[in-house]
Amino acid sequence: MTSGFAEPGDLGMRVVFLGTAGGPNPTPGRRGIATALIVDGDIFLIDAGRGVLDRYLEAGLGLEHFRAILITHMHGDHISDLFSFLMYGVGTAHGELPSGTAPLDVIGPGPVHAAVNGSDPFRGPPYPGVGGYLDYSYAGSALTLNSWSIGMPDLRALVRLHEIEFLPGTSRPTGSFEVFKNDGVTITATIVPHLEVSFAYRLDAIHGSVVFSGDTGPSPAVADLVRGAGLLVHEVMDLKALLRAGFPETHAPFFRQIHTDIDDVGPIVRQAGVTTLAVNHLLPPKPTTPKATWIQRIGDTFAGEPIIAEDLMSVAIGKT
Ligand SMILES: [Zn+2]
Ligand SMILES: [Zn+2]
Repeated sequence: MTSGFAEPGDLGMRVVFLGTAGGPNPTPGRRGIATALIVDGDIFLIDAGRGVLDRYLEAGLGLEHFRAILITHMHGDHISDLFSFLMYGVGTAHGELPSGTAPLDVIGPGPVHAAVNGSDPFRGPPYPGVGGYLDYSYAGSALTLNSWSIGMPDLRALVRLHEIEFLPGTSRPTGSFEVFKNDGVTITATIVPHLEVSFAYRLDAIHGSVVFSGDTGPSPAVADLVRGAGLLVHEVMDLKALLRAGFPETHAPFFRQIHTDIDDVGPIVRQAGVTTLAVNHLLPPKPTTPKATWIQRIGDTFAGEPIIAEDLMSVAIGKT
């Protein structure tokens, strides 16, 4: 682990945490959820929460090396700056493109057509997927995009969309499935327990493998996905601290289903046999218990020292 900036031109594979704050509350020092994975200089982004572009630039990452965005699910702390990253970031980095070229892959949930087991207590179906989110954003930004069009590509032409969609009446896969492959990286996904549709992703490259749990309750699906990987990036919450801060006790059982408490991460890691664990998506986003306590509580159930992710922290994977 290093605390320095990533060198995108380097050979090898590394994760750079750009934003590590879970949930909607803005927090000084931690941006919304976004993590960069760099593979031999190519950059993949996992989620695009609040402040992702600023952190991306602060980390010294080059937009010209940007290849793909993976969205785990459609909660705001993971997608709030997706469109602005495309418009201000990738859009300004590319001049007008030859027709038929689309240098950027966007992978994420398709639309949800119906509630799953009535599991969402907050809002009814249906929900747009990542494509619908981008379409509405394009439409709402028409004045901007028309004004800035000189020298910028049509953002819709910039993106190759890969929506993971489950049509009504079809069954959902119970194990992992491939969602993307290019010359250097294969990406597989599995469905995890977090409201309607949420994915954990595994990225395999010649240098090693890393799994991002996304938002999830404790899940054997994550343990299956991570088997043999070098690094697991897993979400975490400190439920006791949330309750002390006034979080309603009545919501606690539901939260235990859709997020993973600090005491429940270790058993997942042990089950998977992964060698390195980093926890992100901190809830509360400004921990009220010392970092050493988090490390000790997670470490009690995991034979290793967990990494508590900070914004701009960099972690190397495998042989570099
Ligand atoms: Zn979240
Ligand atoms: Zn979420």
